[in-house]
Amino acid sequence: MHTDPKDPYNYPARDTLPNVRNAHNKHCALCSPYRDWGCLYENDDSWEIWQVLNSSPKGLAQLRWMKAANLAPHFDVSSADNHLPLCGDHADVLRPGKIVLCPALEDLDVMIEFEENDWNRRVQDSEVAVHESSRRVPSLKELSGYFHCLWLGPQPNNVPNLRGLDVSFTEVGQPGADDEHEQTFPQQVLFEEEIRMVPNVRLPTVQPATETSDALARLDHGLLLNPPNKPSMWRLNPYACLTHALGFVNGAYIPADMLYRAYDRKKKCYVPDVVPLRVLNPLDEYEWRLLKLRRLYSRTASDLQLQRNAKDKS
Ligand SMILES: [Zn+2]
Repeated sequence: MHTDPKDPYNYPARDTLPNVRNAHNKHCALCSPYRDWGCLYENDDSWEIWQVLNSSPKGLAQLRWMKAANLAPHFDVSSADNHLPLCGDHADVLRPGKIVLCPALEDLDVMIEFEENDWNRRVQDSEVAVHESSRRVPSLKELSGYFHCLWLGPQPNNVPNLRGLDVSFTEVGQPGADDEHEQTFPQQVLFEEEIRMVPNVRLPTVQPATETSDALARLDHGLLLNPPNKPSMWRLNPYACLTHALGFVNGAYIPADMLYRAYDRKKKCYVPDVVPLRVLNPLDEYEWRLLKLRRLYSRTASDLQLQRNAKDKS
């Protein structure tokens, strides 16, 4: 995992703070709105406004890449959609990149397909000079608006709950351990649905058992931060998040072992009762899409010229 010493660079402009806090109803973006001890800022002085891309050398380089690729020409470190309010616990996992927010898989697929079509358009349209032929990207209306929490573990034994999910360590698989926080290798994390339904959250899905494999939960836990048809409620720039997430793929680490227990709302109990499901952490699926987008979005006007030349010769 790449760590980024962001703290000294995380300087949101003071006039941004009230707007960001109000846009999230004065709650931490990752905490459940229902927990009494949740993060109402009036009662909590450990909250902070986190910047997706900040003014660190790495952040500024990421911003330059974003601008060169024309992903969000008007976006800047001070843009409102570069900020998320976080409680101290969630800042501690997002700041060093233990959890990374990334646009949903289907949105990465939309971006890839859009870019491939758009590139063909720019190659074919030789009437327009390459330097005037700008890249286009899907608008937020064309995306699902979900941002997924990528678990890049290994995790410390203090993992905060996430909106809609209770998170704890489990002793499953470590017979004889009498301390539930005892570290195992790899570590084990248990996810449980919150009993109360939480809006605008995507919970892990469960793949039923087959003849050849056990049931499996897929940790595609996502937060709806940009409802496609409500521009006034768009909270986060997906291209900034994509750029940020690119900084974290390809790390040399062993992800945590993760387990999931669904809640049966009709029977009012957790199912299955005893044995939590193994969690499939779909990091690979994000990684290849992110790397593909980095390669596609890094193509320059010179690359476009070369491609046009090749087309003219053929
Ligand atoms: Zn929080």
